[in-house]
Amino acid sequence: MVAVPTPSKVLVTGANGFVAVWIVRKLLEAGYPVRGTVRAANKGAHLKKIFSEYGDKLEIFVVEDITKTGAFDEAVKGVDLVEHTASPFHFAAQNPDELIVPAVKGTLSVLESVKNHGSSVKRVVLTGSSVSVLRAVDKPTVFTEADWNEWSVNEVKTKGEGAGSYPMYQVSKTLAEKAAWEFIEKDKGALSWDLVVLNPPWIFGPPIHELKNLDDLNSSQAEVLRTIAGGKSPEELVVSSNWIDVRDVATAHVLAAQKPEAGGERLILNEGNFYWQDLLDAANAISPPPLPNLPKGDPSATAGVMHELIFITEKSTRILGFKYTHLRDTVKDSIADFIARGYRG
Ligand code: NDP
Repeated sequence: MVAVPTPSKVLVTGANGFVAVWIVRKLLEAGYPVRGTVRAANKGAHLKKIFSEYGDKLEIFVVEDITKTGAFDEAVKGVDLVEHTASPFHFAAQNPDELIVPAVKGTLSVLESVKNHGSSVKRVVLTGSSVSVLRAVDKPTVFTEADWNEWSVNEVKTKGEGAGSYPMYQVSKTLAEKAAWEFIEKDKGALSWDLVVLNPPWIFGPPIHELKNLDDLNSSQAEVLRTIAGGKSPEELVVSSNWIDVRDVATAHVLAAQKPEAGGERLILNEGNFYWQDLLDAANAISPPPLPNLPKGDPSATAGVMHELIFITEKSTRILGFKYTHLRDTVKDSIADFIARGYRG
């Protein structure tokens, strides 16, 4: 049995974003008609262009302000599945509310609209983040879906604007996801749809969303370019984190729609741990070298540096069961994309 079978209609919010355009592509390829929301009509033109072969199977719908109550009332009508990706992801926030308000209110406004006007909706898939699961640690620590990032919530509560933009982003995702589960809990038994939350770490890979130039890259892929361009210090290069390819995240969003067992679950996605140095090592292993002046970093510098955030992905592997892209392919495809956009090293 498939939870939301093709050709059910899917609403994708923030459809012009880095992750969302890949989700739209995978949905269309799988046979789902898509209604994508954007903040302004001109942000939908690129989508119509790159997916022109799908004709009216892709509909663009303008939702100017996702934080307004009822913002999605019209958008959810006639759809069977909602994939909510729209949420600010950047490290330039001066004030926690810049991120928290659109993340939390945007999520609640989608859920309210589904509850009140989405009579055909069977499932809502929320693009969460592993930042809602992890916390700051100083030794290898195992995380599962039972973990919540209370650390960043306290950090931002205590320090406010002084907390730094990364904890502010972490709080925005944590509070938005909590609000979604509380919403479901409040109406338990009365809703004809369920919730799935996907919690991916850093998402890398070639973008297909509209980019004027490489200065316009989304926050995560901008970090890949900065690494490849030699912009990370030796200290930054030995930092360990977790990652996944954007195409795998998109595939997971399709599978989350299809697998009945995914209903009601948080699912951590993670290809694995990495050091930023690994991106340079992968780039330098490409033959022939794709760029003339690739920085080498120091491949030996990560020896003895522990990976601290250990994510258990048993549940997502069991329920979604897809094959992760290897880092060397993600790096290779990312560099090919940078070059196609004019990057010469
Ligand atoms: P992008 O910045 O590329 O896309 C973000 C999307 O959200 C855009 O459509 C953007 O619209 C919309 N958006 C941002 N702020 C607002 C707002 N205030 N009101 C309405 N819409 C808004 O980011 P990603 O594609 O990387 O992120 C997509 C989702 O994936 C987010 O929920 C993010 O938290 C999550 N995620 C991303 C990771 C990553 O490494 N990239 C890692 C884990 C989770 P507009 O273009 O109009 O600004």
